[in-house]
Formats: sequence, structure tokens, C-alpha cells
Amino acid sequence: MKFAELASAYEKLEGTHKRSEMRAILVDLIRPLRPPELAEVIYLSQGMLRPEFEGVELGMADSLARRSVAEGTHTEERRVAEKVKASGDLGTTTSELLSGRPSSGSGPSLTVSAAYSALTRIAEAKGVGSQEAKIQVLADLISRATAIEGKFLVRLVLGTLRVGVREMSILDALAVAFADGSKEARAKVEGAFNLSSDLGLVASVLAEKGLDGLRSVTLEVGRPIRPMLAEREPNLHDVLERMGGTAALEYKYDGLRVQAHIPKSGPVRLFSRRLEEISSQFPELVDELPKAVHRTPAIIEGECVPIELDTGEIRPFQEVSRRRGRKYDLERLQEEVPVCLFTFDVLLSDGEPVYERPFPERRALLEKILRPTERVRVAVQTIVHDEAAATKFFEEAVAAGGEGVMAKSLKPGSSYRAGARGFWWIKYKREYTAGLADSIDGVVVGGFLGRGRRAGAYGAFLLAVYDPKRDRFESFCKVGTGFDDALLAEMPKRLHRFETDEPPPEVDTGLVPDRWMRPGLVLEVRGAELTLSPIHRAAFGAVRPEAGLALRFPRFTGRIRDDRSPTDATTSKELLELYRSQVRQATPTEQPTEGDTAS
Ligand code: AMP
Repeated sequence: MKFAELASAYEKLEGTHKRSEMRAILVDLIRPLRPPELAEVIYLSQGMLRPEFEGVELGMADSLARRSVAEGTHTEERRVAEKVKASGDLGTTTSELLSGRPSSGSGPSLTVSAAYSALTRIAEAKGVGSQEAKIQVLADLISRATAIEGKFLVRLVLGTLRVGVREMSILDALAVAFADGSKEARAKVEGAFNLSSDLGLVASVLAEKGLDGLRSVTLEVGRPIRPMLAEREPNLHDVLERMGGTAALEYKYDGLRVQAHIPKSGPVRLFSRRLEEISSQFPELVDELPKAVHRTPAIIEGECVPIELDTGEIRPFQEVSRRRGRKYDLERLQEEVPVCLFTFDVLLSDGEPVYERPFPERRALLEKILRPTERVRVAVQTIVHDEAAATKFFEEAVAAGGEGVMAKSLKPGSSYRAGARGFWWIKYKREYTAGLADSIDGVVVGGFLGRGRRAGAYGAFLLAVYDPKRDRFESFCKVGTGFDDALLAEMPKRLHRFETDEPPPEVDTGLVPDRWMRPGLVLEVRGAELTLSPIHRAAFGAVRPEAGLALRFPRFTGRIRDDRSPTDATTSKELLELYRSQVRQATPTEQPTEGDTAS
């Protein structure tokens, strides 16, 4: 396929916000393709070169890309910079500069594969001279590109593709392009993705072997599985009722979710909840896991929590977050913030996938294959049949430093449901008992400039929840409380790559921030209560027509959820459930009545 065809599809995608139109454009784009080109187009359309978990960064600094554009279009760099100031985007500027050029007469010649390998060379260039090499590769591409090709090549390397193709849209398109587009077909495609986390792979297998061929896509050590997620209930009575009267309760540890891949030989690999590789940040777990886990190759899951090594006591979550994203000082931090992995599931053992087995079998297997060590243990668990026992265990969990309990279904259907949120796991946290709402993970979709001491930086942020059905981010609050000055000073740097002049099409809000942001960064907030608002758009119309849900007195908890991608944020449905659970708590039957207090 010519890169020009891909660029023209991107141009069309940019012009629509409708999911059905986007799907039609994507279907037309991918239907004629076969591997490896198919996979290349799938990755590129998400602004990537490889599946996300491989961590291949396509990015290039603005200044380097600008030099490439100057060279590739034979323009002075100063002029390029001036034009960018006016257009606000180097991609647009590139296309302007290229469109003034006489055409070579033979039409666009760049193929997708050639562009893909050039972009791979840019991504892989390391060490001395790599910057110059990157500039040359991009300049060379630009010099051969048409105006619209140039625009998207530059946006690809800058990581600002902005055509809004997310996983859900690609899954939709795959089911239509290579199967009958039915609900069943869509579910099978998504199932294969949930097990492999690799859309390029799923697309390739589907195009070559059809829907049934997807059965061959299963767990593999080194390739993370999309995590199973929990629902919530407002009290332990409802938790037990949901579970059918009996459930396993486990401590809910407050740390980082870790998926550990342990091969028969060779290094252990650790993945975060959003499937980033974090092995280098926890070398002691990498060392200790092969000693603790037998029957390898194995894939196990657990929560990584800071502990006091002498006493085994659990320490606050904030400490473990200090170890995330660190490249230096690892050894010192390892001593200062010792961690323990409390394992709670096993998905592969002895090289055999076991994720489809019911949970009680998996837990028994986990206990069998794990010989606990100082830093690798099994999550504390008990089986309960009534509320009194559940309450007692919950109190024990909180006293031990947990944030509550995780209830897990023991029913025959309790297999591990990769990538799905359901009532097979239900979380119940300490905050619920205090009558406060749970914390909410909101996606930053806008920034408000600060005043006074905070002038020059952002003083508040517009936050949204995610609605997977509409594939939209719906605002629910503006938060400016809970940030310290150091963090506020750092926020523009963190948010820079998401900033955009136009309201992002996937964002739904009645507020206009000073600066729009594409959904990227996730912040944890708490608030006094959820109310109805005509301005915010979360679960709009679900409770009352023309009203969405809003969080009153929102406050940032200090926790930036780097471990969550925007689509992992709290969903509109969850927010609605939180709203309803607080309404329920306030009903007169649950409030002491005058008669009650008098007796
Ligand atoms: P939340 O992040 O509030 O949606 O809660 C779900 C998270 O709790 C999971 O993704 C895990 O990281 C964490 N967790 C802590 N303890 C457990 C446990 N025993 N079983 C499953 N998940 C747990």
C-alpha cells in the first residue's frame, strides 16, 4: 500500500467524530491488507510501531523534527519555526511547505512498509550520532513526500497523530473487515486481543486464518494479558448477595498491580496494570520470583506493596510510587522502600494456560506452586458465608494495612476474564464504611491557568470519566485543590504532549478550559458528594434529562495514576453507581429515625 493512501485515510478520520463513520473508513483501509503490512498499518494508526507493551517509542523531540522539516523542504529553520508559530502544528507547516513545491510528475512513491521501516530506524537509533541519524532519516522521508504524506509523517514522529483511533474502533473494524461483523465475531476478536494485548498479531491471524484461527492466540510468557477488573458494591451485604451467599475474601492491598512472567530459564519480566514493562524497577522481585515459583513457565499476578522487612508490616502506597519510573538511584531506593509481591492469581503454570479454570482451582494451584519468600507471598484469603464473618475479615484487612477487601466468586464460571470488569471480583474499600464516596480516577481533558502565586502555570484541571460505550470522555469536575506547588510547576511538562488548540472530539463537556488536552494523564480525586449539574456531561441524562454528574469539592489525592491509561479511568457507569449508592445510603430506612434514637 502506498503511504499516500494511509495519509488520506487519516485525513478522512480527522474529519469525523462519528464512530460508525470512523469504522467505515478503517474497514476500507484495512480490508485489502495482509500481514505484515496489515499489522504495520494497525500499529501506525495508533501512533505506535509495535504493541504498546514492547515499549518502542516512536517519539522525536520537536526541535529535531523541525530540523528535519527544514532540511527535507529546503527551508531555513527560522522560517519553519515562524510558520509553526502561526499554524500551531509542525505537521500542518510541513504540508504547507511541501504543497508549494513542484510535483515530481510520477505521483507519490513512498510505501507504507518503507515508511514503517524508516520510522523504526528513527525509533531504534541510540547513542553517539543518533540525533543526526534521526534527523537525516526523517528529512529524507520528507523530501520524497507529498504535502499530506509529510503532514502525517511528522505527526507520527511527534506522537501527535490525533486521528482518534483507539483500540475499540480497531476491534470494531477488524470484526467487519475480516469476519461478518456480528456481535459474536466482535467478541472473539476482542477475546484474542485481551489474551495477547497485540492488535497487530490479532489482525494478522484473523486475516490469514479467519475467526476460528483466533483460537491459536493464547497466553505466552513475555506477552502481557489485559487484566481482569473488579466491580464494586456499597456494602458487604450486597457483596455477598451478588456472590450468591458465599465468596472468597482477600485483603485488598494498596500498591501496584504486577503481572509476573517467569520463563523456564532467562529473565523474569514484570508488567504493570497498563502493560508497561517495569522489570527494571523491581530487580529484587525479578531475582526472587524464580526461587519462589515452581512449575515454570508461569504467569502470576499480584499486588506490589511497600513493607517493613523486619516485621512484614505494610507501608503506605505513596512509598512504592517513588519507585515507579525511576532510572537512577535504584539500589538506594530498593533499600529504602522494600517491597513485597502479594500474589493473588495464576494464569499459566508449567507452560499450560490455566486462566479458564474456576477461581478456587487457580488459588489452590497458586498455593501449590508458590513457596513463599520474604518478598513473594500469597494474598491473605478466607472463605465467608455470612456478613458477620465478612465484616470481621474486612476489619482485619484494614487493620493489617489493606485498603479493604476483594471478594472473589467461587462459582464454576469464575474463570479469569482478561480485560473485563465484572461482578466475579468485587472490591469493597475502607472509605465506603466512612460514608464517603470512593476515590475517582479522572482523565485530564483541560487546564485552567492559575492566578496570583500560581500565575504562569495551571491552577486547575478539567477532569473526565470514560464511557466505553460511546468511546467518549465526559467531564465531571474542575479540580484545583490538593496540588502542591512543586507538582503544579511540573504539570505543564507532563501535559505538554496532550495539549491541543481544538476541543478534542472525544471529549464531552459544557466547560471551556483555557487549554484543551487530549485524554492522557489520569489523576485520582476525592470529593464530598456527587451531584447533578447542567455543565458536566458524565452519565448525561441518566438520572435527569439535561443533567450530568458532578463531583462537589473535588480534591486531588496526590496520586497521579501513571499506571492507568485514559480508558482505564473510572467509567461513567461506575460514577453513576457511586451516585446511586450515596442516594441509597441517605434513604430514611438506613438513617436512625427519631424512634430509634429514643429507644
Ligand atoms: P481498583 O484499582 O480500586 O479498581 O481495585 C482493583 C485493584 O486492586 C486491582 O487491579 C489490583 O491492583 C488491586 N488488588 C489488591 N489486592 C488484590 C487482590 N487480593 N486481588 C485482586 N486485586 C487486588
